[in-house]
Parts: sequence; structure tokens; C-alpha cells
Amino acid sequence: MKERYDFREIEAKWQKRWAEENIYKTADFSERPKYYCLEMFPYPSGKLHMGHVRNYSIGDVVARFKTMQGYHVLHPMGWDAFGLPAENAAIKHGNIHPADWTMDNIRAMRTQLKQLGISYDWDREIATCHPGYYKWTQWLFLQLYHKGLAYKKKAAVNWCPSCATVLANEQVKEGACERCKTPVEKRELEQWFFKITAYAERLLKDLELLEGWPEKVKIMQENWIGRSEGAEIRFPVDGMDEEIVVFTTRPDTVFGVTYMVLAPEHPLVEKLIEGRPGAGAVRDFVRRVRNLSEIARTATDAEKEGLFTGAYCINPLNGERVPILVANYVLMEYGTGAVMGVPAHDQRDFEFARKYNLPIRVVIQPPGMELDPQAMTEAYAGDGVMVNSGQFNGLSKDEGIRAVIAYLEEKGLGRGQVNYRLRDWLISRQRYWGAPIPIVYCERCGIVPVPEEDLPVLLPRDVEFKPTGQSPLADCPEFVNTSCPRCGGPARRETDTMDTFMCSSWYYYRYTSPRDDKQPWDRARVDYWLPVDQYIGGVEHAILHLLYSRFFTKVLYDLGLVSIQEPFTNLLTQGMVLKDGAKMSKSRGNVVSPEEIVARYGADTARLFILFAAPPERDLEWSDQGVEGCYRFLNRVWRLVTSVAEGLLEAPPKPAGRLVGVNRQMHRLTHLTIKKVTEDVGNRFNFNTAVSAIMELVNALYQYKEVPETDRDPAVLREAVEHLLILLAPFAPHITEELWEITGHTESIHRQPWPSYDPEAIVEDEITIVVQINGRVRERVLVPADITPEQMKEVVLAQPRVQKLVEGKQIVKVIPVPGKLVNIVVK
Ligand SMILES: [Zn+2]
Ligand SMILES: [Zn+2]
Repeated sequence: MKERYDFREIEAKWQKRWAEENIYKTADFSERPKYYCLEMFPYPSGKLHMGHVRNYSIGDVVARFKTMQGYHVLHPMGWDAFGLPAENAAIKHGNIHPADWTMDNIRAMRTQLKQLGISYDWDREIATCHPGYYKWTQWLFLQLYHKGLAYKKKAAVNWCPSCATVLANEQVKEGACERCKTPVEKRELEQWFFKITAYAERLLKDLELLEGWPEKVKIMQENWIGRSEGAEIRFPVDGMDEEIVVFTTRPDTVFGVTYMVLAPEHPLVEKLIEGRPGAGAVRDFVRRVRNLSEIARTATDAEKEGLFTGAYCINPLNGERVPILVANYVLMEYGTGAVMGVPAHDQRDFEFARKYNLPIRVVIQPPGMELDPQAMTEAYAGDGVMVNSGQFNGLSKDEGIRAVIAYLEEKGLGRGQVNYRLRDWLISRQRYWGAPIPIVYCERCGIVPVPEEDLPVLLPRDVEFKPTGQSPLADCPEFVNTSCPRCGGPARRETDTMDTFMCSSWYYYRYTSPRDDKQPWDRARVDYWLPVDQYIGGVEHAILHLLYSRFFTKVLYDLGLVSIQEPFTNLLTQGMVLKDGAKMSKSRGNVVSPEEIVARYGADTARLFILFAAPPERDLEWSDQGVEGCYRFLNRVWRLVTSVAEGLLEAPPKPAGRLVGVNRQMHRLTHLTIKKVTEDVGNRFNFNTAVSAIMELVNALYQYKEVPETDRDPAVLREAVEHLLILLAPFAPHITEELWEITGHTESIHRQPWPSYDPEAIVEDEITIVVQINGRVRERVLVPADITPEQMKEVVLAQPRVQKLVEGKQIVKVIPVPGKLVNIVVK
């Protein structure tokens, strides 16, 4: 018998054996029902952090549990391997190539993952930086291009001066680069975009289908898509053959327009001011504002500034002349770059009008009130009755919106319109370490897509890494200079690479066909495995990755490449790992490294702690005592099982006949634990309460072990010990496998079927009730579960200890509370 729990030896032994026997290999198809369990793949930074350990431990319990339940489980792992850190390391250290840096990191992290004992099918490993993968990323780009969903345009884009690249809107958080926190600037650049806006309505509507997603994630996507209904109205410019188009959600307030504002970037500005006396001042203002970040311009406390252009437009509903201004708070990227000023009914317009003494006209009167423009201290944006609005007077807000839109459409002055906050997805990056965009520019033919048979467009290895703000590929003539696939003449390759979110938008399809070099995936395999049944990852991907993946899936569906419209049926967003109340980070110095914990306590303890310390969606507070506690628990399991291992399998696998007393209780607890763990893991992912139940089972087994052998049923013991190990196996795969072997089993515990509980076994046939005398607890009595209140009284009063306590006193009342207690009142 092994005395000591030697986790180092045990974990190394089983990791080696599982790999040799390839027990986590998944066949492409099976008659069994499928289950695709997926954790978001990591960026290969070089080291796992606790957030990773949490993410993958959760996924591993789900995958092992479903496997034991009889599902054919796909549980793969790979690497989101393109991206800036590799290139920045090359710039900083000079002698490290991003490819080598990335592959070294992948090796290190793969080793760490294997040390955690996660049940991945490593034969399906993918890395997005591998030409065999990015060939298909480029192929997918071409499919979008041919469908008219990839296009190039000049646009004012978000530029991170520190990362020296453009960023998608989704990568800008509060005006700063999401990655490095540097304030983002605007630059005019020719860039490639994906037309995600063409899918805005479907992306919004299909959120309803995602019943297995957290509500908060759906709300974040809904807000990001930002659908609003309203009207597009055209205001002709007075004395010019031009018009200003605005979008408003409140066409019912159009009679209240007292001025018009254009974004400084609006293309009409220069035409309006040309030749006017104030033109120079407006130009200076425009130049100054354009250099400010979006956040500086639109923050609610930012000073609103504007300047009159000298020009007027005509309100198409009442024919009034309206002054045109330029102002800092209007952005060209949102809506049309023009806003009609209705100060009485819009707070931002109100503040602006007060500052510049622009007229305020009330056109909505709230019920039971009379708004006076002079006395108003803030805008009134609520419901009411239309006034000062010609033929529309007397209508309510909603009636007014409908009536004004109908009128605009009838007169050809505008139309009802739905607007989205969502912008097209900017995918060009001026960096080396990404998938090259498969496009060439020919002097004669213009933009020419690279033919599919010429893919992949390989990244050249020898380039110079400089933080120039231009892709290093642009300085690599062997890469840039090529011939046109169409006419054979001289051509230049596109030197930008693709946003890495493009690589991660489709990787979950590739796991089904990781080595296919003829196609991105085999259709039959994708039809069998997809959608992902359970996706697990951080909530920080609520918009970017999850929205892009949904968009991609819808495009693939429309292209006839997949049969599903949503990629992820169920989503679990795990909470953060905190220490001392804050997220673990190098700068705070509160990082606990997984390596250290695994070296000191073993992978099973690390996994168990992280699963036991909090429910998966909640934040988890790191606790050294908590880790110690889990380690002690596993030692307890070790001692318990090794002490009864000998001859355990000589007993029948389950007890026969009617059990009584301690045997009945032990048998009952075993089945109650099966029930609890199955429900907690299967229905709710409440791993913490599942582990608690297993801990209680261990405590009970220790007591049961002390019962004299003659009173103990060896079948009850065997059943309890075997089930303890099976229930614990998804959480702590190594120690349970070792103990399973020690107790004499020859087949892996991870190939055992998940047990079901026996409803007969858990029926409660005896309960403990409390005896109170004058409200104080004096005794506990075991009674049959189906006892009547009258019988309860009799049983309690017959207890020797109770008789002694009431001796010589007068019993005033005996009150039975069924199932709980009997209170005796004496005086
Ligand atoms: Zn940055
Ligand atoms: Zn050509």
C-alpha cells in the first residue's frame, strides 16, 4: 500500500500513459450523440495565467462529465497565434523572429496545459499563424470579397500611435487602445472593411435564438448594434444646389429646429464657407477639432463648441431659414455627420443653444404643463402633444412620428429609416505578424484578388521590424513586387495583414478538419459537430470575438458553406480570478503563477481549488488557505481509499436486500451524492456545491470505516468508494485514476459511465426530530419518516431523558411540528 499522496509521481505517470494510450482522441463521427465543448483558444503569450487555468478547468469538467454520460465529445485546443506582442518583441529585442517567439511560447504553454491534465485531443491542435491555417483565412477573405462583403475605402480610422496600427471600433475602449491604453488618434487611410452592417438586423434579431447565452452578453451586443428607428430628412441649403441629410429618432420635433450642425469633417463645410468673411476662422476650428479624439469630443462633460458658417438651410416642413454651424460634438462616423438642433427637446442641443443664444422653440407640450422656453432649465425629451407644428398640432409623440414620416415620404422630403450604431469592421492592420490580405494592385486592372490556387500568400521570413507605422512587408520588395494574375503585367501586393479577429472568427470549424489541405473543413464533419454545444471564455469577448463569429457564421450560411446560423448554442462567461480584491496583474504585483501552485500542490489541487472556490460566472478570490484546504482534502481521499483498497473488489459491486442502520445511511448518502453532483454539474455548472457534496461523502465514509467490520456491509463500502472516485474524476483526474488502479480496476476511470442514482435508495425512512422543553432544545429522537403528530407526542414523552426532565412538573401543552420538532410546555 502506498502511504503518501505523491502527486508528482502520480500526475507524471498518468499524463504519460494517457498520451501513450491516446485516450482523449476523438473519432470524426460516432453513433453516439455528439457534444462539442470548447474553450476560447489563447494567445500564446508564453505562460498560462490563473484565468486560463480557470477557463480550461471548467471546460475539462464539462468535457469529462459529458464523455462519461455517453456523449461523443469534441474537446480541442489551439492557438490564436498572430498578433502584436510577437512583433513588438522582435522590434524590442531585434534578434527574435515573431514566428520563433510564437512557436516557443506555444511549446511552453502546451507543456503547461498537459501538466494540468486537461482532456484535449492534441491531434486536432491548430495555430492560426501556420500557413496550413491562414491559407484558409485568406480563402475566406476571398469568399467575402467575391460576395461584395469585403471592400476598400478611404476613411478616418482609429490609429494607435503606440501599436502603430489602425484599430477596429470594437478595439477602442473609452477613446484608448484596448491593448495598450494609448489614446487613439484619427487618420485618413485606405483600408479594407467587412460589411458587417449588412448583417446588423440579423445579428440583432437572432439574439432571441440564443437562450443559452448570458443575458448581459446579449444586452451588450444589442447596445453595440444600436438599432434606432426614425427618419432621414433632407434640408436644402439656401441658395445652393446642395442638401444636408440628417437622421433623427424624433421627426415629431422637426418644427422645433432652430439651427443645423455639421461635423467638422462634413464634406459640405468647405463649400459652405468658401469666399465668406469668416471662412478662415472656421477652417482653424475644423483643423483643431479634427485632431481631438472622439472621446474628448463626445464626453458628456466636454465643452460644446461651435461656429456659424454663414450659410443657411431650409426646414422642409415649415420653410424656415435655419443657420448652419459646425460643432465639435458632431461626429462624421455616426449617422450622416449632420444634426438638426432642437434645443427644447434634446439636452445636448439645449446646452449648445443656451451657450450661443440660439432660439429655443417648444413643439411638444407635456401633459398638464406649459413649457416656457425662457424659463426652461433643461430640455424636455418626454411624451406630450405637438404644438407650433402646423397641421400636426394635437398629435401625441408616437402619432406625430408616424404622421411626419408619412408626410415626408409623400412629399419626397425624406423617409422613415432604421439606423444602426454598428459600423463596418475594419480589418486592415499595418503590421507584419498576421495573415496577408490576398489582393494585388495592377496598374491596368486595379484591385485583383489572388486566385485561390495561389494561396496561401506566404509571409516572407526575412523582413525588418521597425515601428514605422507601415507594414514591414512594404519594405520587402520580394514580397511586394509580383505579376498581375489577370494580365500578367507588373503588380504590387497588398502589404497590410488581417485583423487577428478574422483568424478567430472561424477556428471552431477548423477543429473538425484540422489537417485538410483541400478545403477549410469537411462539410459532413462540420454538419455533425457544429454548433458548439458549450462555449466557455471571458466576458471581455462579449462584443468583439463573439459578434464577429456570429457574423462569420451567417455569411458562411449564406455562402452555403455551413448549415447553421449561430455558432455557439450555450455560452458560459467565467468570472475573473482576483487576489486581495483586484484582478491579478503584474503591475499590481498580486499574481499567483499556475506553475508555482502546480509544483507545490499538483494539478489536481489547483483544479479542485479553482472549481470549488466560486461558481464559474462569479469572480473568484484567490486564497492560499483555500488551496491548502483542497490539498488536505485530496490527502484525506488518498488515505481513506488506500486504507480500504485491499480486497475492496471482492465485495459485490452493490448491496443486495434490505439495508438497515448505518449501512442504509451510507448507501443512501452515496446515492444522494450521485444525484446532487449530477444535477449541480449537469444543470447548473455549480461545481463548488458538487465538490462540497463529495467532501461530505468522504466525511461520512471516514465514520463508516470506523463501524465494526461485523456490522459493515462490504458491498456498501465498495459502492461508496467507487462512486466517490467516479464523481471526483472530472475535477481531479490524476489522483482518482491512480486510486482506481490501486483498488484493482484495470480500465481507466475516465472511461467509466457516469452513475445514476437509485430513487429507492434515497427515500428517507427515518428522520431526526428535536424535543424542546419550554423552547429549549433538550433531546433529539430518530423516528419513522411517516410518523403522525399524535405518534410524535407519544414517542417523545416516552423518552427516558424527557421523562426525567419533566418529572414533578405539570405538562401544560405538547405541540408537535411534523417533520421537525415537539415542544413541551411545563410549569
Ligand atoms: Zn495600442
Ligand atoms: Zn493586370
